[in-house]
Amino acid sequence: MIQFAPLSSEPKTSTSKLSTEVKEKVHVLILGSGPAGYTAAIYAARANKKPVLYQGLQAGGQLTTTTEVENFPGYPDGVTGPEMMDQLQKQAERFGTEVRWGLATAVDFSGPKHKVWIDDEYLIEADAVIIATGATAKYLGLESEEKFKGSGVSACATCDGFFYRGQDVVVVGGGDTAAEEATYLAGLCRKVYLVVRKNYLRASKPMQDRVARTANIEVLYEHTTKEITGGQTVEGVTLLKSKGEEVKLAVTGYFVAIGHQPNSTIFKPYLDMDETGYINTVPGTSKTNVPGIFACGDVQDKYYRQAITAAGSGCMAALDAERFLG
Ligand code: NDP
Repeated sequence: MIQFAPLSSEPKTSTSKLSTEVKEKVHVLILGSGPAGYTAAIYAARANKKPVLYQGLQAGGQLTTTTEVENFPGYPDGVTGPEMMDQLQKQAERFGTEVRWGLATAVDFSGPKHKVWIDDEYLIEADAVIIATGATAKYLGLESEEKFKGSGVSACATCDGFFYRGQDVVVVGGGDTAAEEATYLAGLCRKVYLVVRKNYLRASKPMQDRVARTANIEVLYEHTTKEITGGQTVEGVTLLKSKGEEVKLAVTGYFVAIGHQPNSTIFKPYLDMDETGYINTVPGTSKTNVPGIFACGDVQDKYYRQAITAAGSGCMAALDAERFLG
């Protein structure tokens, strides 16, 4: 296994100062090591395409920050996120995927051969590239939030809400995701506090109506989070009202729903994206606007964002790449 340490978390978009010496040519290059990337690798490897997969900054993707995964089919007793990703990696390697540590920092998709620079220095030319670089959940950036990630602080209600059944929780954010997560959690939890920094919700009218109709959601407008408190796990939260007054709530779960950032910056000069950076694919496929470049998983999906939907789209990307390579 060749290892390349990531140089920077801020990928470049200019390739002018990078080496033009092609170090390696590969058939199928996969970028990203979440469920989408590994599933694409399993399919491409079984089709004898000898895929090379670069893991990116967070080997295993977002699931490695989750504790228990109970909704991925095939695990009746649940599985931890890191364990599941480890098994997916082994499955991909079993069929011949070469899994490497390294970060794609620049690309050139302007020619028939697709160029990808790993850690700025190692230039690979690929016949097909599968982009499975995922998205990064935005967090508030509090020290206490970091401390309780995975033990009370979560960015995914569908993944972790079940663990808070019958309990009181906080959801932070005022967009569609926050409104959706709050209503989802309201079906499981005793009480959901929706903490909104403005005096209105940004969420769409139907989502706002759903929130208003749900008796066990209390919206706290013009509140921000000062600190999440507890011992080993979350036991409470201290909020600040707009005039500086402190409000303490006893909650065991703290769900951050302030948006996601798709990891797509380096592809921007070549690929069609929506205004927030999600890669556009031809509906029902993983094809981007550039022949031979395919996108799967959260980097092209802002609605479902589940491990199983990412895995499904990874399979699509491998099949699309296989057909493209003919
Ligand atoms: P949005 O960017 O729409 O909303 C983010 C929310 O988080 C805003 O209310 C924002 O507040 C708040 N926020 C941001 N930073 C902070 C912070 N530091 N502290 C407190 N609050 C903060 O993101 P979403 O994930 O909700 O939605 C992304 C896109 O996906 C949207 O286009 C949405 O419509 C779409 N979507 C659609 C769904 C559906 O149709 N079912 C479901 C989910 C998402 P402020 O308003 O003050 O900026």
